[in-house]
Amino acid sequence: MSDATARWPLVDTHCHLVLLEERGLLSAAFESAEEAGVEQIVSVGLNVEDSDRNRTIAEAHDNVWFTVGWHPHEPHAPDAAQQRALEDLLAHPRAVAVGEIGIDLFFRSGYHDTPFEEQQRAVHIMLDLAAARGKPVVVHDRDAHSEVLAAIGEHPSVRGVMHCFSGDAAFARMCVAAGYVISFAGMVTFPHSEAQQAAAREVGECDYVVETDSPFLAPVPHRGRPNLPGYVAATAAAVAALRGAGEPDVRAQSTVTARRLFGLPGHER
Ligand SMILES: [Zn+2]
Ligand SMILES: [Zn+2]
Repeated sequence: MSDATARWPLVDTHCHLVLLEERGLLSAAFESAEEAGVEQIVSVGLNVEDSDRNRTIAEAHDNVWFTVGWHPHEPHAPDAAQQRALEDLLAHPRAVAVGEIGIDLFFRSGYHDTPFEEQQRAVHIMLDLAAARGKPVVVHDRDAHSEVLAAIGEHPSVRGVMHCFSGDAAFARMCVAAGYVISFAGMVTFPHSEAQQAAAREVGECDYVVETDSPFLAPVPHRGRPNLPGYVAATAAAVAALRGAGEPDVRAQSTVTARRLFGLPGHER
């Protein structure tokens, strides 16, 4: 990436600054963002405690916003007290979305074993919360395309983003029709991700954003290292190559859509 390219702003729409901090990588995260022209970072919560820790980081950094989530790996749906705590966090001025929420049917020992029924209870509670508060949602979908589509279909007033998009072009069209934006992560840069790459070629200019999901799954050419928010530039470059577009175009399109989705400053640009 040239210095000229880095002057086109970018938003990392999904990372986990709490997890980066736990790994001693918070300064590296901000340095990488600065170098790559990442002006705004959305740090995503996984449960009450994690969302609250993201709030603390957002309060300390002008370029960070946070989300209030209940990840599908949580062993139980949030109880009444937890729901109240999530609602309180969502009232914070720097809380921009509900998430991550969703359904994960990739069951492996050491990954997670939350039953589908419990995940479903949680996702509907969280979609109701988003509807009540008029907030977008950040959706995690692993091996659960039809289940996720059914869940969001029951809450038609809610908009959001399909984070770390893992579907194909046809599924992307269905998500966009449901009012959701497609978020491309490091996976789209991997050689064998033909389905996501086809989605990246086809999706409309106003219908996608980019993310790192750092510290997980670094994009090419950073694979094998902990992911950092600045590496979202590599994903934007890969999306540009797939679309036959210029990097500045992809950076501008994804930034405008991210700011509109989350109501971040600069979204009138
Ligand atoms: Zn996720
Ligand atoms: Zn995530």
